[in-house]
Amino acid sequence: MEMKSEQLELIKEQFKTLKDRSPFYAKKFDGIDLSDVQSQADFEKLPFSEKADLREVYPLGIQAVPDEEVVRIHSSSGTTGTPVIIPYTQKDVEDWAIQFARCYEVAGITNTDRIQITPGYGLWTAGIGFQLGAERLGAMAIPMGPGNTEKQLRFMHDIKSTVLCATSSYALLLAEEISKRGIRDELYLRKGVIGSERWGEKMRHRIEHELGIEIFDIYGLTEVYGPGIGISCHEHAGMHIWDDYVYIEVVNPKTGEILPDGEIGELVLTTLRKEGAPLIRYRTHDLTRIIPGECACGLHHPRIDTLVGRTDDMFKVKGVNMFPAQVEEVIAITSGTSSEYQVMIEHIMGKDVLTVLFETDLTGEAREHAERELEMIFKAKIGCTPEAKAVPIGELPRSEKKTQRIFDSRY
Ligand code: ZN
Repeated sequence: MEMKSEQLELIKEQFKTLKDRSPFYAKKFDGIDLSDVQSQADFEKLPFSEKADLREVYPLGIQAVPDEEVVRIHSSSGTTGTPVIIPYTQKDVEDWAIQFARCYEVAGITNTDRIQITPGYGLWTAGIGFQLGAERLGAMAIPMGPGNTEKQLRFMHDIKSTVLCATSSYALLLAEEISKRGIRDELYLRKGVIGSERWGEKMRHRIEHELGIEIFDIYGLTEVYGPGIGISCHEHAGMHIWDDYVYIEVVNPKTGEILPDGEIGELVLTTLRKEGAPLIRYRTHDLTRIIPGECACGLHHPRIDTLVGRTDDMFKVKGVNMFPAQVEEVIAITSGTSSEYQVMIEHIMGKDVLTVLFETDLTGEAREHAERELEMIFKAKIGCTPEAKAVPIGELPRSEKKTQRIFDSRY
């Protein structure tokens, strides 16, 4: 992907003072004169930054402005170890709102919409990001936060919500509940903005079908504003990234080498305007590709494809590397399956055993046939043969947050 001249100018501008403003970057770029960065090629020689770098300077070592300019912090949901704290200036918060409102607009959402926000509020960037964007747009935000399905459905009905913002797992849970109660016709939902999780086509189709809404994928991460730095458009062919705020690269996760557009690798982000905590060549660990060419919708912002997984999601069984997205693809083309699955990897009697659990409403012989079919497709697509095991629909767990699907008990 070629760096636009406006992007290079923004990078050069922030590099003029970056090392003076930030002890973190003074150390990171020690021995590098940032005024030497005059081209894309120069930029590509700079070292990457990582979540581990940010943890190391916990709590506020990444801050690149004086205290009086910081208006807020957020923190990434560190399930393990030290959290990462990101400080925001007033301008950062505004820039985030501008980007998020743009996302809603691309999804055809307007100031007459009523936006039910179910992601969590607090240190996490999700809920508050959806809210900021809604307010900026002039729509009515309904700040539900997660959980309490009973109340969610009541508000959805009584306040006449037209837009649902949720994780894919929670959207599915709500969709199934709505369908079970047969109350779809009493609701006003017309669009869904689904965030921050890699998910399969089959799950999307189920939510779209059961709720009868058009779904848009929103992208972002706490370290870089939060959700809202990009969204899919009506073409539903990848997510546009706001390249006037963020510069994107895709690199080989092992070697760091920049990959040509179209090839899958790790997404690397550079913030172009962020003040509180600028990030330079930040490795997201998200696997995707830059979609070559222009989008039929007419937007000139570049697109990334649906996330394939995380570099750390990759698992290896019987010498074969695989990603959850590949398993999803297998599930999707096996007949009679739902979108839900679990992969169990165990080490039994000196051998790796791979079991794929999937849901189906088939019974008897048809069910056995589906199991054999899945095993064959798995072998053909991924390169090793699992044991496929069908369970009734609804038996695998759904969660309000990210659903864990890969269980590796070998270590
Ligand atoms: Zn488009």
